[in-house]
Amino acid sequence: MREISSREQSVGQVVSLLQTTDMATCSSCESNYFKIIATFYGDNSRALDYLISHGVISSGSSRIPCPKCGTFLSFHEQDHLFICRSTFTVPKTKKRKNCGFSASQYKGSFLSNCHFAPWKLVLLVNHYLSRHWDYKKIQDCLGLSPNTVCDWRSFCSEVTEQWFSNQDPIGGVGVEVEVDETLIVRRKYERGRVLKQVWLFGGIERASKRRFVVPLNGEYGVRRDAATLIPIIQKFIRPGSIIYSDSWPAYRQLSELGYGHDTVNHKKHFVKPGQPEVNTQEVERLWRDIKEWVKRPKIRSIYLQQYLARYLFVTAVPEPQQLHRFFIKASKLYPPFLEVVRRQPEPEVFSEDEGAVA
Ligand SMILES: [Zn+2]
Ligand SMILES: [Zn+2]
Repeated sequence: MREISSREQSVGQVVSLLQTTDMATCSSCESNYFKIIATFYGDNSRALDYLISHGVISSGSSRIPCPKCGTFLSFHEQDHLFICRSTFTVPKTKKRKNCGFSASQYKGSFLSNCHFAPWKLVLLVNHYLSRHWDYKKIQDCLGLSPNTVCDWRSFCSEVTEQWFSNQDPIGGVGVEVEVDETLIVRRKYERGRVLKQVWLFGGIERASKRRFVVPLNGEYGVRRDAATLIPIIQKFIRPGSIIYSDSWPAYRQLSELGYGHDTVNHKKHFVKPGQPEVNTQEVERLWRDIKEWVKRPKIRSIYLQQYLARYLFVTAVPEPQQLHRFFIKASKLYPPFLEVVRRQPEPEVFSEDEGAVA
């Protein structure tokens, strides 16, 4: 029992450290594309320190209790491996036996199955967060194979897509929000497939430019009718907001649902005559920007969601904080081994036949 309580105590301390990492302002890690390259190029220990301080992987110096026997694990820096060195006597045979538990420092984390140097991973993510992702440049400059680059691009995408599917609501009492729909047509480079049309629906706060965008291709429905759009508005725009939209009938009930609402008839005008504040010019600017971003050649519609997610992340998060925010997200999406241990309330009962768990 003593072992369990000391284990819980120590895990509690490490976890509170992890939580501080999330809250920390991290001002020293604010950076830009080129400074990040200058900081991490060829420097594994710096990259590892960065990943540890952002909770992406467990620190080698953390006191992590063995999930099998509760003894604190030792860390092998060269192999990035946590090993249990404890021995015990098997009651039946009275023989000494090693616990034998071991686990990689990368286990469960964003880096699990990362078979290349951590500094390369940091620079790959840095490039992923830049406006123009270039496969060839990453392969050539970091010496990674096409398959590896392809895989890691999609792992990065999982992080930004997770961020995308949890977009924060915008607006609030008296806050002006513009909403609109736009059609994205994708057909080139999809020979033999049905023409794909995807509508996007989004909103933007006029003053702060905070926004949300959702594709109408499944999760929320595909039609631009009230049954689809109203629940999206209620999810992403806080009550009391003043909404400006075009005169599409789907928006008619907004003023009965706790929103201020005014419309401009896009068939006739871009700005309501005599009421210049009634327009949707901010959201139209957003559409132009998104279309420029996602309409580049060779972007297939199945990747539309990925591109939208990356676009919104890169344009919503200020550049100096992008790497920081990305890795904090990655640490939450893929909690490292230490977190998995924390969630196990008690050490597993050791069975004699059980081998090492890697
Ligand atoms: Zn053990
Ligand atoms: Zn940071």
